[in-house]
Amino acid sequence: MSKSICKKDVKAKAAGMWDRIIRTLAPSISPALDRPGLVHIDCPMHGGARDFRVYRDVVDTGGGVCTCGNWPDGIALIGAVNDWTFKDTLSEIGRMILGEKPELTPVCRETRKRDTAREDAAIRQRLMALWNGGRSIKSDEARLFWIYLMGRGLKPPRNLQSVRFHPSMAYYEKGELVGHFPGFMACVMAPDGTPVTIHRTFLSEDGRKAPVESPKKLCPHASYRPLQGAAIRLFPAMDTIAVAEGIETALAVTEMTGIPCWATVTAGLMAEFIPPPGIKRVTIFADKDSPSKFHPSGHGQEAAKALAERLWKCGIQAGVELPPSDIPEGRKGIDWLDVLEGVNALKAA
Ligand SMILES: [Zn+2]
Repeated sequence: MSKSICKKDVKAKAAGMWDRIIRTLAPSISPALDRPGLVHIDCPMHGGARDFRVYRDVVDTGGGVCTCGNWPDGIALIGAVNDWTFKDTLSEIGRMILGEKPELTPVCRETRKRDTAREDAAIRQRLMALWNGGRSIKSDEARLFWIYLMGRGLKPPRNLQSVRFHPSMAYYEKGELVGHFPGFMACVMAPDGTPVTIHRTFLSEDGRKAPVESPKKLCPHASYRPLQGAAIRLFPAMDTIAVAEGIETALAVTEMTGIPCWATVTAGLMAEFIPPPGIKRVTIFADKDSPSKFHPSGHGQEAAKALAERLWKCGIQAGVELPPSDIPEGRKGIDWLDVLEGVNALKAA
């Protein structure tokens, strides 16, 4: 095997065949390759349940992502799964490309022992530093946050909690720093009230969503603080709450109904939401999503139904409210922020 093989060569030659390379050199990831980007598996790095997935374009890039980290290409990913050095990883992949037999034995997830305690401590430290770098949304510096909300058609909400403004947050794409953006952070809280992680919304200097691929991101969380059951508690509540997926959608619900509405961030987390003790009534303001292959009744609707059924079993009154109008042509769905927008347009007319 040639000694001159370099990262660039490997990447060029492996593009289009990462699927096969990963199945051979990191077999514990194979289940995630069956539906790239969609199937979540237990993380081979930190062990988090259903936290890891490969990129949709894994065949070309070999990349994967977890709540604990991001591996932008197959070299990084295979190296991480096996704890191989960069040099060893490169030469094993090079061997595969040349049709030679592997020299090293791929590590199976079951045989791995990672220092999760150390990784958890690092994640916690980063979360605390990020949160402490924020400012009160009532401070002058947080003007951009309010400009953004008004730009989305929302009135400045009263009693808003769990949200902080950040003047400059680092934004990464596939592991590489793209730039720094202002934005706001929201604390994602476990049912027992402990903080789990931070949701970030990156903004442009004129108060719109930042012009990046994913202006909304969820930070990693420590393995002992699972996301399951958690939500962003945007308003204080007594025994009655509403829940919606997105932060802006939740703010629209509270503006229209007066009920404190919390955000579950995603449909997946909505289905898993656990209200804290003392909550007796939950109204679920679902997103109305178009049917898809994996969600024939719409992801938002299915998540809301699953949550309502589980809450009734726990003795909590639950109801589902769907946006009354049909999904507009060319759109994937409609949510309660769209409904508020419609109401405001009528008022203005
Ligand atoms: Zn992980």
